[in-house]
Amino acid sequence: MDKTIGFIGLGIMGKPMSLNLLKAGFNVTVYNRTESKTTEPVLHGAKKAHTPAEAAADSSVIITIVSDTPDVESVILGENGVIESIKPDSVVIDMSTISPEATRKIASRLKEKGAYMLDAPVSGGEQGAIDGTLSIMTGGEAMIFERCLPVLQAMGKNIIHVGTNGMGQTVKLVNQILVTGTLNSVAEALIFAQKSGVDLEKTIDAVKGGAAGSWQLANLAPRIIERDFRPGFMIDLLVKDLNLVTGSAGEMGIDLPVTSRIKEMYEKLQAEGEGKNGTQALIKALEKITGVHVEK
Ligand code: NAP
Repeated sequence: MDKTIGFIGLGIMGKPMSLNLLKAGFNVTVYNRTESKTTEPVLHGAKKAHTPAEAAADSSVIITIVSDTPDVESVILGENGVIESIKPDSVVIDMSTISPEATRKIASRLKEKGAYMLDAPVSGGEQGAIDGTLSIMTGGEAMIFERCLPVLQAMGKNIIHVGTNGMGQTVKLVNQILVTGTLNSVAEALIFAQKSGVDLEKTIDAVKGGAAGSWQLANLAPRIIERDFRPGFMIDLLVKDLNLVTGSAGEMGIDLPVTSRIKEMYEKLQAEGEGKNGTQALIKALEKITGVHVEK
């Protein structure tokens, strides 16, 4: 396949993903709204575009990884957006986490231009993006998925085609239900451990290899006990995802009682100014409820 890629969105996730594409030998043109974030990819050989349309103009694959549904709509369908310059038979791979319904609408707008779309949201956090080991859940036509596999393989390891457009996003919402419940359990377990007086580091080491092991426990529990709340994944973005979850659940007529309760705790943290902190700051909500401060 043609190795020319337009890459839009150089945030916590996008920047290391673009660097991995460069490392794998792709010709990458990067666009970021805040221009300073293009410096590192350009140092590693990327070209710089000044608009999403410019990034798309000479590319057979255009990757977007920006914050939320309106942001993806803006860089693809808005003024100076990808749709203004995309060539027929090109593919937009949106790797942001956004609404499955909006994804289907964007895909049909691109189809009018003779272009294709894959929704390919990711899991694995900043470290997975740096290491090129992301899990990628992909929706779209099977033939287009096969064509784009070498691109996805430069950024991820567990890459699954799950169905038609929008279904990648639906599976990502499944992922977020699991992530949220697991992290809440990690935080509650640390509260219990702290109050009981056991050594927190030894407790984490003792349980992480057994049946209670998880990515959330291995990666975020050590940060919680260090009081390190810098974001891998921001609370603002998780609340965005949980709104997509409860919205879809509501449309299907189902209630997710635990996920909804945790969403309320996160919304309260947002109101208290914690939105730019990492999701591990959930501990602060549980500390308020229980009166127990967790720190090693
Ligand atoms: P981030 O660090 O906040 O980066 C967001 C990126 O989107 C920035 O490059 C930002 O540009 C750009 N952007 C936002 N709105 C835009 C707009 N209207 N027009 C143009 N560019 C816009 O976020 P992130 O953590 O990389 O997350 C990106 C996506 O990946 C989100 O959908 C998130 O849910 C998903 N995700 C994140 C993680 C994680 O662990 N962080 C894991 C899996 C999935 P500026 O630099 O100008 O602000």
